[in-house]
Amino acid sequence: MELLSKQSKQAFEEAIRYIPGGVNSPVRSFKSIGRSPLFFEKASGSVLTDVDGNDYIDMCNSWGVTLLGHAHPEVTEAVIARVQKGTTFGAPTPEETLLAKKVIDMVPAIDMVRFVSSGTEAVMSAVRVARGFTGRTLLVKFDGCYHGHADHLLVDAGSGVAETGEHLTPGVPREFAQCTVSLPFNDPKAVKALFETRGEEIAAVIVEPVPANMGVVPAGSGFLQLLRDLTTQYGALLIFDEVITGFRMSRGGAGQYFGITPDLVTLGKIIGGGFPVGAFGGRRDVMEVLAPLGPVYQAGTLSGNPVAMEAGYHTLRLLDQPGVYEDLARKAESFLGKLRAIVDRYPVTLNSVGPMFTLFFHKKNPTNFEEVKGCDFENFAWFYRSLLKEGVYFSPSQYEANFVNVAHTEHQLRLVLIGVQRALSYVYGY
Ligand code: PMP
Repeated sequence: MELLSKQSKQAFEEAIRYIPGGVNSPVRSFKSIGRSPLFFEKASGSVLTDVDGNDYIDMCNSWGVTLLGHAHPEVTEAVIARVQKGTTFGAPTPEETLLAKKVIDMVPAIDMVRFVSSGTEAVMSAVRVARGFTGRTLLVKFDGCYHGHADHLLVDAGSGVAETGEHLTPGVPREFAQCTVSLPFNDPKAVKALFETRGEEIAAVIVEPVPANMGVVPAGSGFLQLLRDLTTQYGALLIFDEVITGFRMSRGGAGQYFGITPDLVTLGKIIGGGFPVGAFGGRRDVMEVLAPLGPVYQAGTLSGNPVAMEAGYHTLRLLDQPGVYEDLARKAESFLGKLRAIVDRYPVTLNSVGPMFTLFFHKKNPTNFEEVKGCDFENFAWFYRSLLKEGVYFSPSQYEANFVNVAHTEHQLRLVLIGVQRALSYVYGY
């Protein structure tokens, strides 16, 4: 059966005349899927509705934003009330402090926090703070991790950049890129060797504690602890990029989940309750280098926007109710156990950590970016197109994560399992 997407196709044809590639972020383009993207009209809970009126169970969650589900009534109500009182002042509002206190209460590594408008800005600013604090330049990242699109972070990056197949994006001066070293993920020897030769130059190591932008690739045992130990030993800072894992892996994010305290944490997605927000925070002595307290400059007209702060605060307040994380963990474990049993019959593997997962069209569970590149991308695209016809919306790339969220019902997750089973049987013929 074909998916009826006449309105989506028309909307796309119109968009490409005015917006490069018809999209405002390349991962939305379905580039590797072999069909034009869907345009959406509305969403509620875990159901998305496209402009043709088709419904989908949402496992992409706006790339990890909607952990509570879409349009939660309490968040929506608070946002409407805030909008009616004015939306921006370019001056401080009490909402900023309210959200800051909530973030500091929930994330053990954060003593002080500053709000920005996207994950990219959060990471860009955290790296500047790390360089300003240490007086050093070199940044260490890992192949296949994505930390937003700031110049020095696009070296061997995951997510949409991975689909371009480029080591470095044109437009980034080589001189900038030389300030970043990208190492293979899960390779302790490579990290030790770099610290032994250039340890005194390293300002910071940045890592996604659960990489999600090459698909979900868990850190091997001891890898994150090694990063903590080496950064401490050499006087560099450890930055956990928790734009995806923050408030998801646990109340206190991945740092708390793994029992490792980074010096700085970057946040985004969930923290904005569906609005454009990012944040970075961490040790008080490090954060105090920021202007106007200290000399490191960073700013934003719409930073700490009261509407976004209100949405973020109510989202975190609802997530912080008793039992929410325990229920999410139980639901994810049960769903992922059943999903594993289905995919085990095919040349497909499941990587998961907590409620985050990726189906890799690969016989072996990938442990780094090179291995992910060995996936069967054609079969992934075929699977993906078949899954849409089953009414299930996964993240549209092999290099991305999917998420079990708080709003998914057992019934919806059962429908996802049926959809995956059917889509795999179209691809493999059994
Ligand atoms: N860091 C990570 C780990 C991310 O996954 C992303 C976006 N997917 C970013 C940073 C950049 O966030 P944004 O797209 O909001 O700029």
